This record gives sequence, C-alpha cells and structure tokens, in this order.
Amino acid sequence: MAEGTAVNVGPIILLGPPGAGKGTQAKRIAERYGIPQISTGDILRSNVQRGSELGLQAKAIMARGELVPDDLVCNMVAARLREADCVPGFILDGFPRTAAQAGWLDAFLEHEFFDNLHADKCLPIVIRIDVDYNRLLQRLTGRRTCLANGHIYNVYSQPPRVADVCDVDGSQLVTRNDDREEVIRERLKAYDLQTRPVAEYYQQKGRLVSVNGDLPVEQVTGQMYWVIEHHGAVEGMSPFYGG
Ligand SMILES: [Zn+2]
Repeated sequence: MAEGTAVNVGPIILLGPPGAGKGTQAKRIAERYGIPQISTGDILRSNVQRGSELGLQAKAIMARGELVPDDLVCNMVAARLREADCVPGFILDGFPRTAAQAGWLDAFLEHEFFDNLHADKCLPIVIRIDVDYNRLLQRLTGRRTCLANGHIYNVYSQPPRVADVCDVDGSQLVTRNDDREEVIRERLKAYDLQTRPVAEYYQQKGRLVSVNGDLPVEQVTGQMYWVIEHHGAVEGMSPFYGG
C-alpha cells in the first residue's frame, strides 16, 4: 500500500512502556494511513493557546496547581475527534489513561462519532507493544548525555568512540538523574500500574492485540500494519505474539 492511501482504519490506541518505541511507531502509522496522531498533551496546549472555552477552564485549574479533571479532558478529546480529519481513523496517544476514560471513549464513538460523521463503525483497536522488562531496563539505563550540548548516546546500542566522551564536542558524558536505574524502575512501575486497567478493559472486549516489541523496529512496524489492516477480524488474537 502506498503512503497516505485513504483507507478507513478506524481508531487506534497504542500502549507500551516508556522506551518501547511507541512514538516512532505512531508516527509511521499516521504517515502510512494519512490519519492524525492525537495526544492529550497537544490538545490541551492547543486549547489553552487558542483560548477556547475548555482551554480557559483548564488554564484556571492548572494555574491553581491542580490536575485537569477527567470530564474536561474528555470534552477536549471529543471536540478534537469531531474534526473532519478523524473520520478515516486516528491514533490516540496518552488517552485513555483509565478504564473509565476507555468506557467514555467507546460510548462517545458509539453514540456520536459514527452516526454524525458517517465514519465506519469501527471501535478502537488497541495495540500493546510488549517488551522484555530487563532488556528495556538495560536500554534505558544505558543512556548517556553530553554535558555541553545534550548529545545522546547509549552504552549498549550507540556507544561513543571513546568511553564517556562526546564524539561531537569532546565534552563529558553523564547519566542524567532521570536515567538512573531506580528512577527508571519507578517510572516503569508507575506506567504498569496506570495502564494495566486500560489494557484489561480492552482485553475483556476482545480488542487488545499484543505485538512483540523486542524484534527489530521494522518488524514491529510490520506487525502493526498487519493488525491494523485486519482490524475487525483479529479479535484479540495476534499471529506474532502469544495473543
Ligand atoms: Zn556533545
């Protein structure tokens, strides 16, 4: 299939821990199918910048140092999904974050999206990038950052020519605080706790498909294309990775 070929692929949700390559995969999918990649962070920023009614509400709440509540986030997502470019499909990034939001999304799509936009009735397919925990931990803790200009290396996959020295500017390479093992372990644990209920919600609906994220990135992309192009026929079964 050519890049950007118009095909109704429907809503796609990607799940995967930090470092699993979710961003790269989402970008490829968006380009191949010509569908927008929608992140709640972007929607929030855009609403605040435009000074929309929802944006003004969110801004006031954030100014008080509080988290933007669920219903406000859902309203912003709804407004974005009503835009015409979402009809053939879209990729959601960072949403839904809870099982309640997942339920809200299904209801919104059923009751409003499909009917009003004449989109194909196609509930979200959820692709989870599964990666081996220890390999992921190794990859993430291998990051080294150059002190002078922030050039990034990885002692396992992209080492500098001379240990601890930046190839570009000769400055010292350090492990940033965020890349320390205990910080990464905490981040992965928090991610798992937060997303598990979302994954379980979709698993119960038969719409969760796992792909093997330990394979080379091109192969992971290939698995995703297959899943997306068989959307509706898959019912939770992946030919690539234990279901
Ligand atoms: Zn450097």
